Amino acid sequence: MAQDDAFANAAAQPLSVLTGLGKSLLAALEKAGFRTLVDLWFHFPLRHEDRTGILRVGELRAGVPAQFVATVDHSEVGFRRRRALLVSLGDGSGRVLLRFFHFKQAQADQLKAGARVLVYGKPRAGGYSLELVHPRYRVLGADEQPVVEDSLRPVYPQTEGLGNARLQRAVELALERLPEGDDGLLAGLLPRQWPCLADAIRSLHRPRDRRELEAITSGVHPARARLAFEELLAHHLSLRLVRQRVRSERSPVLRASGRLRRQLLATLPFTLTGAQVRVLAEIDADLGRSAPMLRLLQGDVGSGKTIVAALAALAAIESGMQAAVMAPTELLAEQHRRSFERWFAPLGIEGVWLSSRIQGKVRARALTRLAEGAPWAVGTHALMQEAVCFRALGLAIIDEQHRFGVDQRLAFAQKGGVLRPHQLVMTATPIPRTLAMTEFADLDVSVIDELPPGRKPVQTVAVSRARRDEVVQRIVDACAGGRQAYWVCTLIDESEEIEAEAAAKTASELTAALPRLRVGLVHSRLKAGERADVMRDFAAGELDLLVATTVIEVGVDVPRASLMIVENPERLGLAQLHQLRGRVGRGVEESSCVLLYQPPLSTTAHERLSVLRRTSDGFAIAERDLELRGPGEVLGTRQTGATAFRVADLTRDAGWLARVREVADRLLEQDVGAAEALVRRWVGASARYAKA
Ligand code: ADP
Ligand code: MG
Repeated sequence: MAQDDAFANAAAQPLSVLTGLGKSLLAALEKAGFRTLVDLWFHFPLRHEDRTGILRVGELRAGVPAQFVATVDHSEVGFRRRRALLVSLGDGSGRVLLRFFHFKQAQADQLKAGARVLVYGKPRAGGYSLELVHPRYRVLGADEQPVVEDSLRPVYPQTEGLGNARLQRAVELALERLPEGDDGLLAGLLPRQWPCLADAIRSLHRPRDRRELEAITSGVHPARARLAFEELLAHHLSLRLVRQRVRSERSPVLRASGRLRRQLLATLPFTLTGAQVRVLAEIDADLGRSAPMLRLLQGDVGSGKTIVAALAALAAIESGMQAAVMAPTELLAEQHRRSFERWFAPLGIEGVWLSSRIQGKVRARALTRLAEGAPWAVGTHALMQEAVCFRALGLAIIDEQHRFGVDQRLAFAQKGGVLRPHQLVMTATPIPRTLAMTEFADLDVSVIDELPPGRKPVQTVAVSRARRDEVVQRIVDACAGGRQAYWVCTLIDESEEIEAEAAAKTASELTAALPRLRVGLVHSRLKAGERADVMRDFAAGELDLLVATTVIEVGVDVPRASLMIVENPERLGLAQLHQLRGRVGRGVEESSCVLLYQPPLSTTAHERLSVLRRTSDGFAIAERDLELRGPGEVLGTRQTGATAFRVADLTRDAGWLARVREVADRLLEQDVGAAEALVRRWVGASARYAKA
């Protein structure tokens, strides 16, 4: 199955062989990270623009991008709501309006009555006619005939310093050197009806016509399928190769007597659930071997992962090694610190706390203690800083993994000293199988599939904003009974700043409306320290109501809080709402979650909220969310490490994943060279691969 030489040789040629490029373009490409021909072949367009024809204005349809020529009959700068340049055009068959919110005076001067303009863009329905916001356009000369293009124009993902036209030219030149046929990497492993690699690449860059383009866009084109398959395979392989490499290293064998564990368990006010006992045994089996543990611990919110982490940490500590827990936010890290202190202090085990707030002497002291072998450490990203050095880190635990990328996970494991620490990654987000294949294929999985006894499912209701007063009254009732409540403000798509302002406004409204209650406020614009202080007060019962943005989403544990109100839940993903809702229902009280929506609800929004009302099974919710919203949303928000694919689409291509795994098994067994070549092609020499 060796790689076809013609392909491999052509692919590896430097861009300088493309004599038509010119010096400045070559330099720009190299600066943007393009090195060899293969980099250009696999730089696929995001979409195509059809400028092969010119429509009459009367033929334009809302939502369908098109090109047309029309004459300006009126233009003005309007000031209603927002300053905008409004240009009205027509061609006898109809009229259309162009809107520019950002424009230069020169543009306004150019687009005056009488100007003939070639316009390309996507019309939408406006007040009086179709309109286009910021379309591309060119004012035509007096007798100029607009030239149409003879093929669809690819639009490439933009990179700094490279306009689309230049990228298009570079790819065009590179494609001229694309050998025919296949590269042989996957010979015999793909469905026969799929096109060869060269044809597939060409189709994606330059579909022959609109029909072919539509087949690609709608996902049914075999060229797209072939490349999507390769891409999924490459990502899966990259993680499997990381795993192989890591597993070939050595970790300390952590075999504890169990003395400290028995002591800790004796102090707990509860006994472990069967699921906790089982996953702990799985973890122990790993820790007792010299191959590094790479394990993902999944457990729905409130399933009790923290105590499992603490017990695992004791295995390291009893063996004379160190254990460290890293959490994605100050808030969560602080909470773990409190748990660890509460649990470990009676055993006489003192640890180290590190966050970016810890500075100066205190920090120096913390670093010294880590270097000298302090048994445990809890912290934020601060634990990964270069200055942080452990004497002998035996176990590295990462909480809420989806907030960290794979690279960070690997970097944390570099902190071990001589041997590589075992790694335990924890997440409350149930990872649908599809996602696990491309994001977590390097990890073994343990699942806590049982909640501690006595938990009552959170009663979830959807209530229209029109009934906000009733909801506020519910807070009064709950707090009168000694309980606490959360009020979550959501403003997705707006900036953090606006979201913070909205939360502040809600907090002051509620403070005024509820004079007897103690109201606190947390949002991401507060300094980490201030935020942690408010959270601490809430946890200590010194606040009744906590108004918050979604910063409280993960992990926060306040058992007396039994009521949550989520404003505008329709703006959040299901998995995220489920996480939020998991903040209540942690104690023995009957808990409820009120989804305070803004009517009218769209059908999908309605459907999504009712999924939440019907089920409290995080897995079912995540699967549904994946269908409704796509992978990025399931893993959290945009800042997550979720892979951005060039061609593949997890929702659409999920059906291939079983086959991806089979092919990956075959390659890893028989042709690691091919596996590596695929990874280089699609994932690149990215950090994840290099740093392992
Ligand atoms: P998560 O898995 O969401 O991180 P936590 O570890 O924060 O959950 O645990 C949630 C709450 O449940 C904590 O107050 C914890 O002390 C408690 N808890 C953990 N395990 C058990 C158990 N077996 N029985 C009762 N309560 C438990
Ligand atoms: Mg947790």
